[in-house]
Amino acid sequence: MSNLDNLGNVLIRSDLNVPIKNGQITDNFRILKSVGIVDTIFDKSKTITFISHMGRPDGKDLNLSLRPVAKSMENILDKKVHFIDEVFGEEVEEQIEKSEFKIFLLENLRFEKGEIENDNNFSKQVTKPFNSYIFDAFGAAHREHASVVSFGENLDSFQGPLMDKEIHELDKLLNNNETGYAVLLGGAKISDKLNLIEKLLPKVEYLMIGGGMCFTLLKALGHEIGRSLLEESFISKAEELLNSEFGNKIILPIDFGVSDSINSSVRENVKLEDFKNNHIGVDIGPQTISNFRKILDKSKNIFWNGPMGIFEKEEFSYGTREITNIISSSSAYTCIGGGDSVSAINKYADTKYFNHISTGGGASLEYLEGKKLPGVNKYKSLII
Ligand code: AMP
Repeated sequence: MSNLDNLGNVLIRSDLNVPIKNGQITDNFRILKSVGIVDTIFDKSKTITFISHMGRPDGKDLNLSLRPVAKSMENILDKKVHFIDEVFGEEVEEQIEKSEFKIFLLENLRFEKGEIENDNNFSKQVTKPFNSYIFDAFGAAHREHASVVSFGENLDSFQGPLMDKEIHELDKLLNNNETGYAVLLGGAKISDKLNLIEKLLPKVEYLMIGGGMCFTLLKALGHEIGRSLLEESFISKAEELLNSEFGNKIILPIDFGVSDSINSSVRENVKLEDFKNNHIGVDIGPQTISNFRKILDKSKNIFWNGPMGIFEKEEFSYGTREITNIISSSSAYTCIGGGDSVSAINKYADTKYFNHISTGGGASLEYLEGKKLPGVNKYKSLII
C-alpha cells in the first residue's frame, strides 16, 4: 500500500553536486540519477522542489551556484525547472504558494552557514513552505548537516529511492560471506582509506591497491619510490597493515608509468626494481594490469574505488582505462564507489555494464567501513 498520497509541497534533498568547468557541467551522472523521482511523485504532489549543496563555498560564491543544474534537469526531464536563487525566505515562499511552476530548484544550501552548523532556526526557515520532505542525497548522508538530520524533523519525511538503492547494494558487499570478493582501491591518499582497508581486509580475498596511495605502502616495504606521492606520517601505519594477520591479501603494483614531472606528457614504463630517485609514479604499468586482471577475472564480487593513476591526463590514464574495461566486461557483481572512478567509467565505458555505481564517494566508503551514517535509515522509505 503506497504511503505516497498527498505529499503537497514536497522538498527533496538530492545530491546535485556535479563538477562544473567554465559554467559547463562536465559529468551529469548525479543529476540523471536524482531526477528519476519526479515521475514517481508527479501526480501526488502540488509542487516539487529540489535542494542540494555544491562544492565547499565560503559564503555566496556564484561559481558554485546551482543555476546550471536547473538547465540540465530541464533537458533530462523535458519539463520546466524554475530556479530560485535563494535557499529560503519570502521569494521561495511566494513562488511555492503561487504554484505557477511545478518543479523548482533552490540555490546552493551551503551558501548558508546554517546548513553545515546544523542550525535549528535555519532548518525551520528552509522547511517553512513545505508539507513533506524526501531525503535522497546519499553523497551527503555521512554528514551531520541540517538537511541531513534536521529538515526532516519539521515535516512528514521519507527516505528516497536512491538512498534505498545505495543501502541495498552496499549491504550486499558489507554482508558478503562468499569467497571471491576482490577490492581495488586507488586515488591520491592512503590516509583517507586506511580505516576502510583495515575493515575490508578480513572480508576480502584480495585487496589490490594502485593510484598514488600505493607508494606509502611500497615505501613501508623499503622500495625506492622516487618523488611519487608519499604520506610520510602514515608509513608506520602502512607497515602495520602489511604485517597484520591479513596483510598478505594486499596486492601492490609491480610496474609503473613514471614521469619526471606531473606536468610532462612523457611517460615511460618501469619495473618496481628499476624505479629511480627522480621518477614520479603516475600510473600502474602493463604487468600490474595483467596481475590485477587475473584476480578480477576469477572474482565473484568486485568493489572498485579510486583511479589507478593521474587519469585526468591522457598519457597517465592507461591503467584506469584498462581497469574500467576489465571490470565492465566482468561477469562478477560489480560495485563502483563513487567519486573519480565514476568519472572514469563515464569517460571510458558505459554505466550499464556495472551492477551498481554509487552516487556517494566519501559516504559509500564510510558505509563500507561499517559506520552508522546520520542520514541512513533515518526516515521511512517511500512506498510507491
Ligand atoms: P581520491 O579523491 O583520493 O579518489 O583521488 C583521486 C585523485 O587521485 C585523482 O585526481 C588522481 O589524479 C589522483 N591520483 C591517482 N594516482 C595518482 C598518482 N600516482 N599520483 C598522484 N595522484 C594520483
